[in-house]
Amino acid sequence: MDTRTLSRLAVLASAALLVAGTGCTAETVQGRPGASGLRDAYFPKAGNGGYQVEHYGLDLGYDPADGVLRGRAVITARAEQGLSSFNLDFSGLKVERVAVQGAGARFNRTGTELTVRPADDLAAGEVFRTEVVYSGRPKPHKDPDGSTEGWIRLDGGAVAVGEPVGSMTWFPGNHHPSDKAAYDVVLIVPKGYEAVSNGRLRSRTDTGDGRTAFAWHSPEPVASYLVTAAVGTFRVTEGRTPSGVPLYSAVAPGEEAQSAPALGRLAEMTEWGAARFGPYPFSAGGAIVLPAGSLEYALETQTRPVFPGAPTEDLVLHELAHQWFGNSVSPASWKDMWLNEGFATYAEWLWAEDHGGPTAEQRFDAFLAGDTAVDPAADSDWDAFAPASPPGPEDISGNPVYHRGAMVLHRIRQEAGDAAFSALLRGWAAERRHGNASTADFTAYAEKQTGLDLRQVWDVWLYGKDSPR
Ligand code: ZN
Repeated sequence: MDTRTLSRLAVLASAALLVAGTGCTAETVQGRPGASGLRDAYFPKAGNGGYQVEHYGLDLGYDPADGVLRGRAVITARAEQGLSSFNLDFSGLKVERVAVQGAGARFNRTGTELTVRPADDLAAGEVFRTEVVYSGRPKPHKDPDGSTEGWIRLDGGAVAVGEPVGSMTWFPGNHHPSDKAAYDVVLIVPKGYEAVSNGRLRSRTDTGDGRTAFAWHSPEPVASYLVTAAVGTFRVTEGRTPSGVPLYSAVAPGEEAQSAPALGRLAEMTEWGAARFGPYPFSAGGAIVLPAGSLEYALETQTRPVFPGAPTEDLVLHELAHQWFGNSVSPASWKDMWLNEGFATYAEWLWAEDHGGPTAEQRFDAFLAGDTAVDPAADSDWDAFAPASPPGPEDISGNPVYHRGAMVLHRIRQEAGDAAFSALLRGWAAERRHGNASTADFTAYAEKQTGLDLRQVWDVWLYGKDSPR
C-alpha cells in the first residue's frame, strides 16, 4: 500500500468516526463541484477550478492517412477543495471512458466542458489520477481573431498549436496558462513518419506492428497552450549549444536550405539569450519547421517553436525569447499577453542592437515617426489600444500588444538607464522562473527593482487609452 492510499484511508477513517458519532450515513468525504472556468476576462470558460494539474501523460496514436487520433490522457492533479465533480476542457472527439483513481467515473459534456463525477468524492489536498480514453478526428478551433489553432491536419501529417485555447481540441485538461504541469507525450505514428513534441526524446521504439512510438519528456512546467505535436516526414538534426543544451530540430522536406541560415544561429542565439536574460530555462531546445503556408503564424511551443515554413532570423529569435518570457514566466491570464509579446519583440530589438542593426532607441523613435525603413511595423496600428487591456479576445495578439508593449519596456530603459534595465530583465526572468505573473506583478517588480516611480510610463504607455504619439 502506498502512502497516498494510506493517507486516503486515514481521511476515510476520520470521516467514518464523524459519521458514526452523528449516526448519519452520508458520504465519507464531502465534496462540491469544481468551477467550470477561471473567469479569465477574455476566455472565461478556459481552465477549471478546484484542482491543479501536476502531470499529463498523453499516449496518442495518429494515422495521417485517415486523420484519426486515438488518445489516452492520464492527468495527475491535486485537489484544492473537496470535489464531488470537476471539469476538464475538451472539445470534439469521442470520450470512450473516464476513470478516477482507477475506478470508472461518470461524465457528461456540454460545449467545451467535460464534467467528471468520480465514484468517491475527492478530499482537499488529495492527489488523484484521471484517465480519459478518447478518439476521433480532431476539429481545429477558430480563434476570435480569425486564425486557426488546435490539432490541424496537414498534407501528409498534422500539427498541434494551442494559443490561446486550441489544446482542448486534442487532449482534455485544465487549459489555462495559470495551471502549468510536467508532460510526457508518446506519439505513435506509421513507420516512415517522424513525430515531434516538446522537451527531450526519451525513446524511439518500433512497436512491431508497423508503427514507431516517440516518447517525449518535459520535466519543467508547461502551460498547455505551449504543448505541441507535429507529425510529418521531417529531416531531423541534433546538436548542442555551447553551454550544453541539447537541440533537436525537425524540418519539412523542401524547407531545409531556406531554414539553414536562421536555424544555424539557434545555438548562438540561445547563448546570447542566456547572457541577456539569465540561464536558458529548459533542458532542451530546437525548432519545428512545417511546409510553408501550414499556419498563419509561428508559435513559441515550449523548447521547440513551430514555424510555418523557413523562418527568418528575427522570427527564430522572437520565439526563442518567449522561452524566457511567456514560457518560463507565463501570463497569469490572457490579459497579460503583452508580458509575452512585448518582451519577445523587445528581444528582437536588443538582438539587432547587439548585432550591428538599429538601436532600440532608433527603433522606438521610428515607431513614433512611422518610419518603416527602420521597422516595417512602424506604420501599423501599434498605438490602437493599451497593451495591458486589449479591447477583446480577438485583440490579444494585436499589434499594440507586440510593438507598444516593446515600447513600454523601452520607456523603462529610458528612465532607468541601460545597466538597471538589463538587471531588471534578468531579475524578472529569475523572480518568476517557471511560474506565472500578471501585469501588476511586473509593474510592482519594476518599481521595486529600479527604485523609480514609473506611474507615468504605466499610465501613458501601458494603460492609456490615448495614443502616446
Ligand atoms: Zn510572440
